[in-house]
Amino acid sequence: MMHAPSLHRLDKDRLLREFAALVEKDRRDTATLLAYIAEIDRRKLYLEHACPSMFAFCTTRFHMSEAVAARRIRAGRATCRFPCILGMVARGELHLSGIHQLAGHLTDENHQEILRRARHRSMREIERLIAEIVPKPDVPSSIRALPIRKSETQSSIDTDQDGGSTTQPNNPVRTSVKQKSRPVPLAPRRYRLQVTIGEETRNKLNELQGLLSHQIPDGDPAEIFDRALDALLTETKKRKAGLTDKPRRTQKKKGRGRGIPARARREVFERDEGRCAFTDAEGRRCSSTWQVEFHHRVPYARGGTHDVENIELRCRAHNQHEAEVEYGVGFITSRRRSGEAHARSS
Ligand SMILES: [Zn+2]
Repeated sequence: MMHAPSLHRLDKDRLLREFAALVEKDRRDTATLLAYIAEIDRRKLYLEHACPSMFAFCTTRFHMSEAVAARRIRAGRATCRFPCILGMVARGELHLSGIHQLAGHLTDENHQEILRRARHRSMREIERLIAEIVPKPDVPSSIRALPIRKSETQSSIDTDQDGGSTTQPNNPVRTSVKQKSRPVPLAPRRYRLQVTIGEETRNKLNELQGLLSHQIPDGDPAEIFDRALDALLTETKKRKAGLTDKPRRTQKKKGRGRGIPARARREVFERDEGRCAFTDAEGRRCSSTWQVEFHHRVPYARGGTHDVENIELRCRAHNQHEAEVEYGVGFITSRRRSGEAHARSS
């Protein structure tokens, strides 16, 4: 809007000439951006800034949308393996969405051929190209009819006319299939979850529908799913937080035991709310819940104790990162945790 008045008066030749130049510049910038993303990702520099992944770094620190971040990161990684992609992006021969779709299918052997065929192709054409080179994945299937409008279904558009079909044989390959197991908001606080399940899972569901038929007369899978999640959450939290009341036989070894006592595990888990407690220099916390593990601030091998003050939760990425800092993988400087560094230096 800001430039609208001046553009209004711009003569059409110049308007179009400048537009073409902008598009070209945008392509070159995109290629450069991909190279930077790939390098930051390779060095895992996001870890020092309290992000568990490059994706979190792009979305929370740089406020990219999830879709844009995912496309750029995937494309960035693809350029590491196949640097010729950068040139194609800079020349406008291949768009990010195309790379995103193709990336998982490129190999050392086939990439030249596939990239040549993907040049200047639309998304639909690239999807067709992928359908040619890879076997079909599982088709998405619904257990029961869903009250959703056509516009919301997108990739299941050609699946069901009345919303009630259960399987769609010979469905054309839709590459968005994998993204669909994420719950999609329908209306406020309503989500659609569509998954493909195997025979065994189907049997378990049937069995539960029978067992719970007094409480859930219509056997609604959503209701059973909710109860299953409750049960799994309780069980998993118990295990993670050491809430189990049965003492483990393997923890019998006396002395300075390797295992963290159940009480300490429970306290730390509750204090850190089940989330990574890694904090960067600016005091921003990671808070990832991905593969959370217990971490000793002063490492156990260096005399650290199992006291709750010495233990914090870490996501998988930060646990590995700090182990690398602690035991040295070279390029990482440990100035982040200067306090610990000083304590160790004597
Ligand atoms: Zn973390």
